Amino acid sequence: MSICRNLIAGEWVEGVDVNADVNPSDLADVVGEYARADAKLAAQAIAAARTAFPAWSRGNIQARADMLEAIGNEIMARKEELGDLLSREEGKTLPEGIGEVARAGQIFKFFAGEVLRPEGEKLPSIRPDIDVEITREPVGVIAVITPWNFPIAIPAWKIAPALAYGNCVVFKPADLVPGCAWALADIIARAGVPEGVFNLVMGRGSVVGEAILDAPDIDAISFTGSVETGKTIATRAVARLARVQMEMGGKNPLVVLDDADLDTAINCAIQGAYYSTGQRCTASSRLIATDGIHDRFVAAMEEALKTLKVDDARKEGTQIGPVVDQSQLDQDLSYINIGVKEGARLVCGGERLNRDTEGFYLAPALLTETNNDMRVNREEIFGPVATIIRVKDYDEALVVANDTRFGLSSGICTTSLKHASHFKRNSEAGMTMVNLPTAGVDYHVPFGGRKGSNYGPREQGRYAREFYTIVKTSYTLPV
Ligand code: NAD
Repeated sequence: MSICRNLIAGEWVEGVDVNADVNPSDLADVVGEYARADAKLAAQAIAAARTAFPAWSRGNIQARADMLEAIGNEIMARKEELGDLLSREEGKTLPEGIGEVARAGQIFKFFAGEVLRPEGEKLPSIRPDIDVEITREPVGVIAVITPWNFPIAIPAWKIAPALAYGNCVVFKPADLVPGCAWALADIIARAGVPEGVFNLVMGRGSVVGEAILDAPDIDAISFTGSVETGKTIATRAVARLARVQMEMGGKNPLVVLDDADLDTAINCAIQGAYYSTGQRCTASSRLIATDGIHDRFVAAMEEALKTLKVDDARKEGTQIGPVVDQSQLDQDLSYINIGVKEGARLVCGGERLNRDTEGFYLAPALLTETNNDMRVNREEIFGPVATIIRVKDYDEALVVANDTRFGLSSGICTTSLKHASHFKRNSEAGMTMVNLPTAGVDYHVPFGGRKGSNYGPREQGRYAREFYTIVKTSYTLPV
């Protein structure tokens, strides 16, 4: 097996160590071997990006748009193959993997269009004869640091706008999923992006990530990951006045009111809480049901959970793939225990499952009779584990939904326009869904959270330019 290398200044460069990428559905299957970089290689990548920046930022925008379009087209054309790679290395099901890859392709194509839609304003001054122009310019060298759970879509929604608006990129993917990162880098390199404009440095956060944080040539950091890592990165970036954009964890509530359509509510809860093995920042991990529907909702959830097929991510018919690795599995099992010790009732799931191959299979777990003060309702679990909280009425449901340090996504299942409208206005989340799962969003509109889930401007859609461009105001007196 040949070792896939880092991309620095247009060259594929050896690392200092090799990372064997293991399939969580089959621990005997090594997806590939990837070269880990170190601080010295990270520094070379940053220097290459800095050198490439002047020419790239002032380069021809048609050529830039064509490159992004070509990247998007190749990703789309290879979505089955890359989706298979994604499912194999991360463990989401094959349809989910293919869907995520297609999303990455669409994002590159969207931002190819954005290259050709630069915007500015020309205004009269308050002083006579003077013109004022407001334009946007690229920021410089952007570090892109990403988590393992969306190994191609999240890199795409950071790298595509960064390049589109004329920035250079140093990309540090999560150590657990180098396969998709490398495949994306290979596509970008072959699309004709000049050397140094885009660099890939694979490796551990504690080594490569750390080396990026304090580098003076990194002008901005776009990070998605856990709150703990986010805090470290934000503190260090702000200390040297670098721009930061952080999307972090969630503890997303899905409120189910008495008047909800039960099938819709079950569909939203099962999809939102358990699909992608619950390993989504937008997962509906707290299900908040009002008194009048609570018992019917719990019974229907139990029924639905029993029918879910947990198996190899790439097997036909699998609905829930494995947990990503041993440490995430240990965390899920430990939280289930904590919940039970705190007084919750484990009505189904929560046990490790054996399948044809050895993998990290966990039966989707449902904890009922929980209250919002329990650790299982306050801390992000990040696995196929959901809780149910019983509340008296809508007013209490809203208070409980908002009673969290997170604020990424929220949802409500109801047929009442009054409650849906009130919830949309008063939910303390960056994204709110009515009769839809809390996970599952569009790529042409802003994505992001509030409170402890977010720091900095929104990602995706046209809003991405707030982070990847910087505004200039110019005054002219024509003489
Ligand atoms: P993580 O915070 O452990 O790692 C994220 C990235 O940061 C990885 O590339 C890692 O190597 C790097 N990193 C770690 N320590 C670093 C350091 N000291 N300096 C620089 N880089 C460092 O997160 P994870 O386990 O990969 O992902 C799961 C988390 O991501 C969950 O909390 C989830 O909610 C969150 N997430 C959030 C969103 C969102 O948009 N809000 C989306 C997906 C995942």
